[in-house]
Amino acid sequence: MLKTLGIHHITAMVNDAQRNIDFYAGVLGLRLIKKTVNFDRPEVYHLYFGNETGDPGTVITFFPWEQQLKGRIGTGQVGVTKYIIPTGSSAFWENRLSSFEVEFTSFVLFGEKTIKFSDPDGLQLELVERSEGPVNTWSTDEIATENAIKGFGGAVLYSAQPHKTKAVLEDILGLEFVGQQEEILRFRSAGDLGNIIDIQLHPSIRGLMGAGTVHHIAWRAKDEAELLEWRALLEEKGYYPTEIRDRNYFKALYFHEEGGILFEIATNPPGFTADEPIDTLGSKLMLPEWLEAKREELEQTLPKIEIRSLGGDK
Ligand code: ZN
Repeated sequence: MLKTLGIHHITAMVNDAQRNIDFYAGVLGLRLIKKTVNFDRPEVYHLYFGNETGDPGTVITFFPWEQQLKGRIGTGQVGVTKYIIPTGSSAFWENRLSSFEVEFTSFVLFGEKTIKFSDPDGLQLELVERSEGPVNTWSTDEIATENAIKGFGGAVLYSAQPHKTKAVLEDILGLEFVGQQEEILRFRSAGDLGNIIDIQLHPSIRGLMGAGTVHHIAWRAKDEAELLEWRALLEEKGYYPTEIRDRNYFKALYFHEEGGILFEIATNPPGFTADEPIDTLGSKLMLPEWLEAKREELEQTLPKIEIRSLGGDK
């Protein structure tokens, strides 16, 4: 049976590119691993943040577009994106969030220390203390590797039909049901990053796509052969997967599960070092071949952005 290792990446929509970089690179200390454009709308950036090497399971991506209307978090969406922080680093992160005046709540869920807050566009995030997952070797002036976010801990799915989404996680993606606590159904995948997936039972309102919401969640496939197997399985089970698309850093297919959430399955290879070396990941605007002819125009019209140190508590 096919089993995903877990989340490959999560993609969300926001309004301001610089504010997005300041938060994910500056406050959270993730590495901007790829600066490119939306291949379907090249006048909009596509920014990727992850661990030092941009491993699948660590990568959140954004389409920052100023004119985009604000969305609403609700059913048919990924409601919460969870990150793993090293065991014992909660106090560091609480101090750090406080120093940037980010409001948060702290609680224990399934026995894990959890800090919940929103990013500047309203996306719901959690930092979860967990010993699982490799250490992130990327550090900044303010965030040493011993405190650095390792990658995704998982996600909370706000499904419009929780039990149908449960079936997709189990029967298509090969996740194991762990148990239920209050309003949460919990699942686990075979990997150690992006591996704990929750379904929130009885979520309240219908989500509206727009700035401050997650656009889709992608699951890991080992390679293109496995992706083709998944495509066949989806068709057999009555879903309508897209053709396999070349996203430069991975191959992917997309389908809507019955709870309304857009799912993608994406290959690990070739990865984010396909067009630039590890040392300089994210420093240059990378374009697919067919957009190279428009480089000059794009570099002039895309907003100027930079990675900058914001200080804050160490
Ligand atoms: Zn994607």
